[in-house]
Amino acid sequence: MKNQTHTLLKNIFGYDNFRPLQEEIINRTIEGKDSFILMPTGGGKSMCFQIPALLFDGITVVVSPLISLMKDQVQALKANGIKADFFNSSISVQEENEVITKAINGDLQLLYLSPEKLISVSNTWLKQLNIKLVAIDEAHCVSMWGHDFRPEYTQLKVFRNSLPNVPFMALTATADKSARKDIEEQLGLQNSKLFISSFDRKNLSIEVRGQVQKRKKLQEIVSFINRRKNESGIIYCLSRKNTEEVANHLKEIGHSVAFYHAGMSNEEREKTQTDFINDDTKIIVATIAFGMGIDKSNVRFVIHYNLPKNLEGYYQEIGRAGRDGLPSETLLYYNMRDFVLYSQFAEDGANSAMQKEKLNRMLQFAEAKSCRRKILLSYFGEHLTENCGNCDVCANPPKDFDGTIITQKALSGIARMGEKDGITMLINVLRGSNNADVHEKQYFNLKTYGVGKDISFFNWRDYIIQMANQGFIEIMYAESSALKITPIGWKVLKGEKTVRLTTPISIDDKKKIKKTAKTVIEGETNKDLFTELKKLRYTISKEEKMPAYIV
Ligand code: ADP
Ligand code: MG
Repeated sequence: MKNQTHTLLKNIFGYDNFRPLQEEIINRTIEGKDSFILMPTGGGKSMCFQIPALLFDGITVVVSPLISLMKDQVQALKANGIKADFFNSSISVQEENEVITKAINGDLQLLYLSPEKLISVSNTWLKQLNIKLVAIDEAHCVSMWGHDFRPEYTQLKVFRNSLPNVPFMALTATADKSARKDIEEQLGLQNSKLFISSFDRKNLSIEVRGQVQKRKKLQEIVSFINRRKNESGIIYCLSRKNTEEVANHLKEIGHSVAFYHAGMSNEEREKTQTDFINDDTKIIVATIAFGMGIDKSNVRFVIHYNLPKNLEGYYQEIGRAGRDGLPSETLLYYNMRDFVLYSQFAEDGANSAMQKEKLNRMLQFAEAKSCRRKILLSYFGEHLTENCGNCDVCANPPKDFDGTIITQKALSGIARMGEKDGITMLINVLRGSNNADVHEKQYFNLKTYGVGKDISFFNWRDYIIQMANQGFIEIMYAESSALKITPIGWKVLKGEKTVRLTTPISIDDKKKIKKTAKTVIEGETNKDLFTELKKLRYTISKEEKMPAYIV
């Protein structure tokens, strides 16, 4: 088998070596076992089911949420001489019949279906197929805990139960611990093995620029693009209006550019997307509706015109750059106005507390003064031991000092409180506060009670966030936002590792920044702001749901 998989990789796909984990996953699948694959975008997930599909003497069913995804993959497979087809709402009845005939006659190696189509045909002709493998791509759509939830995905368990001896694989680039558990249960995976490959994308440089005025921001973007003539890139904006404004401005000065958002017709969107993929349009200015299912390897830069809502979204979006592994750049702009606007959306609605926490984390990332890649990866549970050397902070490190003892105090507080409490409680204990919560839990008996009196509440907060950013503390969002100590955090506690911290900016400066943002917002007439908020809230919900409309 080993030789066979290598031969296929080389002869059919033209690659010399497997990427990390691909071979292990392929072997496990050939043995008929279930797998859960968590690999970053561009990591090479498709290969994990495509090679087994070629080795099995039957058909592989691939569940995929987007027409564009299916089209691209099927096209690429056909170009490599593989018998593949898709079955979704974009094809005619006649084409449907042709696909069905091929599938039943054993004339197809891979069949791609949307979940709704699969459910609708699962009791008819699908039963006649000799199914040898089922791959659920973009499996995060199964879980309500993740983003892009698709209710139809939850019905796949019935399909799983009807094929007890067929290996199933769930593939996704985005699922934290709670989402992973949920996905496994929803799909009914059996003794599945979890494969996580590193989320570190070393070829992406990371830069963040804060508090830049709108006009200056546009100027900077223009000079950024001018220095990268003919390179392909994506600029993400919060609102549809912004995408059009920025695109029109760039077009006027001679760039090859188009905008993209959920307010456009299906045809317009499809054309924009195809032109981008074929390099007929170099730059896309888009809302978050753009991206899922776009397999373009030579995107050289991703710019965020506004602060994203959370780190998951941000990482997904920058991950669309440099899929070919070549150096690529990412640039994030943020200002307090975006933050305040977003906090207002999160005000009501389900899980608003969690949304707010995630938004805070996003801002902390943007404001951080330590290696950005460390922060990002530690958010996803991966802890780098060295600074990355490829982000703006590493390029221009701030003055820091030995913060080992401060960190040990905080960590020991967390440990003694049984890793059950959040930041506020920790600071109250460290500062020896007398408040009711501290009393109720009898934390004044702890050894760490009051050991951090000499540091202000405000500065403790800043330090603790730095500790989380450097991966010593994990902030668990699932139920309450409890602090947990990571494996390297324990090393610090045991004195096996030292910590560098930076001096927090003064509370006055911080207040000034917040106040400016507030006055910017208050300065605009309330009516305008209200209308903008209402409009944005409406569009954002549409942009987020967009994938569902195009199946
Ligand atoms: P994902 O689904 O994880 O986002 P894809 O399966 O679309 O990623 O793969 C991304 C790119 O990597 C594709 O262009 C694919 O052909 C390429 N690729 C996959 N496996 C390998 C490999 N072993 N060597 C080189 N390129 C690979
Ligand atoms: Mg994929």
